[in-house]
Amino acid sequence: MKHPILIVGGGIAGLCTAQFLEKQGFSIHLIDCQIIGQGSSRVAAGMLAPVHELEFTETQILKAGLESLQIYKQWESEIKGLIIDRTGTLEIASAAEDIPYLQRQYDFQKRQGLEVYWLESQALQEKEPLISPNIPCGIFAPGDIQIENRPLLKTLKLDLLGKGITLDEHTTLVDWDESRSIAKVVNLEGEEKTIPAAALVLATGVRPVSIAEAPDILPVKGEMIALEKHEGFPLRHIIRIRNRRLGNGYVVPKQHSILVGATSEHMGMDQRNSFGGVMDILRRAWQVLPGLYDLAIQEVYAGFRPAAPNHLPVIQKIGNGRKYAINGLYRHGILLGPWAGREMAQLIQNDLMETPCSG
Ligand SMILES: Cc1cc2nc3c(=O)[nH]c(=O)nc-3n(C[C@H](O)[C@H](O)[C@H](O)COP(=O)(O)OP(=O)(O)OC[C@H]3O[C@@H](n4cnc5c(N)ncnc54)[C@H](O)[C@@H]3O)c2cc1C
Repeated sequence: MKHPILIVGGGIAGLCTAQFLEKQGFSIHLIDCQIIGQGSSRVAAGMLAPVHELEFTETQILKAGLESLQIYKQWESEIKGLIIDRTGTLEIASAAEDIPYLQRQYDFQKRQGLEVYWLESQALQEKEPLISPNIPCGIFAPGDIQIENRPLLKTLKLDLLGKGITLDEHTTLVDWDESRSIAKVVNLEGEEKTIPAAALVLATGVRPVSIAEAPDILPVKGEMIALEKHEGFPLRHIIRIRNRRLGNGYVVPKQHSILVGATSEHMGMDQRNSFGGVMDILRRAWQVLPGLYDLAIQEVYAGFRPAAPNHLPVIQKIGNGRKYAINGLYRHGILLGPWAGREMAQLIQNDLMETPCSG
């Protein structure tokens, strides 16, 4: 019997890689040191929004994001319980001084052939009446969508279990013997076991992992606030806020809450919320959507975006054996997960077909 591919980390990166490798006919053993889906993928806002996330230097990410959206749309009919919300984004200038940025962004999006519409204040209000009349203009991107990321991780996990993969939660990778392709893992009770594997995939996000040549990943902290949904505040679109003075942010209507985010801080692994972080998030969102003022706070939390030093995804073979890494999905990991998982699975398949396997 062939040894399985061992995937370490059941966030969006590991789960999507497992989906594609399983489809290619590999047997999969997935481990996570926590319950599946408790890492960065849990705290995300779930925006699948390549159009409004587009930055001037990121056309590669745009292409990957658009491909990923297509995979999500296909998965919607293939994976039971996977539901996409076709919300659309309104990217807005908070004040007159933010208009030049938004105008440049709109021209750039148009040049990329994206479907976007420029809306002056009144048209913006007709589309989303909760937006303050003081907001001068915005861009509507109907193709940007979103997903409930917490249920998504559970759905992908259940789907993989249904397809017969092996899953060990609360199990940590401690060592990888490159020459014999054997992993040593330990569970919460301290019991160690060895897993012979055809290949090792590190999908470990921001947690440091003591495996040789694992990629260098920086945690970029994001603070978030979840507000309780209220029928008196029927927000329909994702609102992407451009604000030169207070920094950029967003407000995302989810099924049971309204998410307001997010900071972008280099604070190491300190996961506590800060006075300043929470204040910045609230001020810039309230300026755009004054009705947020009355909503009850459900949760205040923070998480980390896994970033490579160049802020680009890491999907590569590491070392000379059968060790791979998928990481660095940074601020768009939920969006890029399916694309990255497909690329990772393709790389492994090509590689294993070239190198005869003893397992
Ligand atoms: C505030 C915030 C908002 C965001 N909003 C969005 C958004 O709207 N849209 C979007 O596309 N992206 C968003 N992101 C980015 C997205 O959350 C990340 O890019 C993505 O979740 C990274 O996924 P991952 O699988 O690489 O990491 P993770 O989800 O952290 O998964 C890694 C897993 O590996 C496990 N692990 C680590 N080390 C070991 C080990 N040694 N042994 C076993 N298991 C191990 C961990 O327990 C974890 O489950 C946001 C991020 C933040 C912080």
